Amino acid sequence: MRIVRFHGPGEEVVHWGLLDGRQVRGLSGDPFRGAAEETGDLLGDLGSGALLPPVDPTKIVCVGLNYLAHVTERDPTRKVPDEPVLFMKPPSALLGPKESIRIAFPDHRTDHEAELALVIGRRASNVPETDALDYVAGYTAANDVSDRDLQKQDGQWVRAKGFDTYCPIGPWVETELDIANLPVQSRVNGDVRQNQTTASMIWSPAFLISYISRVMTLEPGDVILTGTPEGVGPLRPGDTVEIEIGGIGVLRNPVTTREAPPNR
Ligand code: MG
Repeated sequence: MRIVRFHGPGEEVVHWGLLDGRQVRGLSGDPFRGAAEETGDLLGDLGSGALLPPVDPTKIVCVGLNYLAHVTERDPTRKVPDEPVLFMKPPSALLGPKESIRIAFPDHRTDHEAELALVIGRRASNVPETDALDYVAGYTAANDVSDRDLQKQDGQWVRAKGFDTYCPIGPWVETELDIANLPVQSRVNGDVRQNQTTASMIWSPAFLISYISRVMTLEPGDVILTGTPEGVGPLRPGDTVEIEIGGIGVLRNPVTTREAPPNR
């Protein structure tokens, strides 16, 4: 199944839905939090309405440095950490397909990061690695947009990765997928920038869910970004960035700037 959040043409109401070809069929509620039934309503065609971020999480947990060649691509002396590096993005950073990434500081280097995202379907606390994938409801594509100047300047990554629009996600959540060896690609204006597979992860999705669940309880609907492969690069106003995960689809976002830059 492919799960979407959707506005019909001219509508303000947000619907959860199932994708049936290009048609969106209505669901009675958030399918990641309890039983959502098909309403029988046809909400519209993909081309006629707008897709929203296909998740409504309490938190977005992210993993840094989970592909070997990315660890050293900007600093050859950097060592692979002994354990996963965790950080978080606020849900206010979420952005749907086709919406604009608004660069906060156009004079900074702001990079794309193509990532496989996991969506949690059952509360997960202290789960063993062997059972961890049973807690996943589905998979989608994400772009961990990152201000490199602020990452260095701040020493931690809340601001650098937490601006509004810095977490594009979608276009939908695919519930049936073997994630062992999925292509992970980013393109900027059609040029391929990142091109790896999930088989190159240092820590597997199952290990990451288990590891994170020993730190914090994962709630249904929560999202985990599993890290990005080598090939990250800058985004500039006017660009279009695409993140494609094999078996899921293409997440496409134009890039612009904020109307007013944030205070320094
Ligand atoms: Mg990342």
